[in-house]
Amino acid sequence: MQKRIDLRSDTVTTPTAAMRRAMAEAEVGDDVYGEDPTVNHLEALAAEIVGKEAALFVTSGTQGNQVAVATQVQRGEEVIAEAQSHIFFYEAAAVAAIAGAQIRQVPGIRGVLQRKDVKDAIRPQDVHQPRTALITIENTHNRAGGTFTPLVVLQELSLVAREAGIPIHMDGARLFNAAVASGHSAKEITSYVDTVQFCLSKGLSAPVGSILAGPKEFIQHARQWRKRLGGGLRQAGVLAAPGILALTTMVERLVEDHENAHLLADNLATLPNIVVNMETVQTNIVLAEIQGTGMSAEIFVQALREQGVWASVFGPASVRFVTHKDVTRQDVLDAAHGVANVLKGAY
Ligand SMILES: *Cc1c(COP(=O)(O)O)cnc(C)c1O
Repeated sequence: MQKRIDLRSDTVTTPTAAMRRAMAEAEVGDDVYGEDPTVNHLEALAAEIVGKEAALFVTSGTQGNQVAVATQVQRGEEVIAEAQSHIFFYEAAAVAAIAGAQIRQVPGIRGVLQRKDVKDAIRPQDVHQPRTALITIENTHNRAGGTFTPLVVLQELSLVAREAGIPIHMDGARLFNAAVASGHSAKEITSYVDTVQFCLSKGLSAPVGSILAGPKEFIQHARQWRKRLGGGLRQAGVLAAPGILALTTMVERLVEDHENAHLLADNLATLPNIVVNMETVQTNIVLAEIQGTGMSAEIFVQALREQGVWASVFGPASVRFVTHKDVTRQDVLDAAHGVANVLKGAY
């Protein structure tokens, strides 16, 4: 059977052998009673790593983001989010459906929000207008191709937010990719935001879960929203145990994913009719624009799959490749070869 090189997402990573052992051996209790020692350990460790008072283990990145929104935003208020952000694009309109608020889409530059645009989007006090209740920053930015927000920009955004008295939530699903690529610690990055969500289940390879972190009082309220949304788990230590290993053993290896993404991008860029914007190749995501091939992304991805290479349709003529723990340097070279074969087949 042909080998499958799965570059659809870093969510396809499987837990390591050490993670599976830790799951089997995890000490557990009822986490809704606050009695699961492994969950408590993970939450304390996570809070320390991002420099926040407290943290909460949540079932997914989406749940973490939406608990953060619901905890800080009232019905009829507005949330500023980058125009192509995950919170706007991929969370089933949860800001409207759960918090009862609307999103103000602010276009960034390669996914990075600009100080002036955010400042201009903050609503004045006016009976006609909703109150701006929260600013969200996506770091790294998925639809922009895994770009990170530079520290100077975070600093500017935090000043704008503080002047207006509005909290900032970071959708840091891939926070550690941003940290590794920018050379700044996760704690430095999150020092500019009030609350942060990050995924244990993507590049860090845990099977399930995300962390939401922030001030102690915020996390207390967030705990109730998590319960309301069905996220109060019982002996969740079996899920928290691999999360601990994700944070303690899987962060530094993200460098390899970034190297492999650059290698893939370089190889794809040499192929005819494939355009890769190298400026956006900063972490573990490569976006290929395939207009020139005359194929739709659907057809292209299907043809590529026949070569054993799995990628995601990201737009009518846009294809996404994501590198991760379960693909090697050789896999990435083979994937580029698979793309070359698809292009040959198109003539
Ligand atoms: C994956 C992702 C999420 C959501 O994570 P899930 O665990 O899939 O719900 C949120 N934001 C961004 C930027 C993501 O890439």
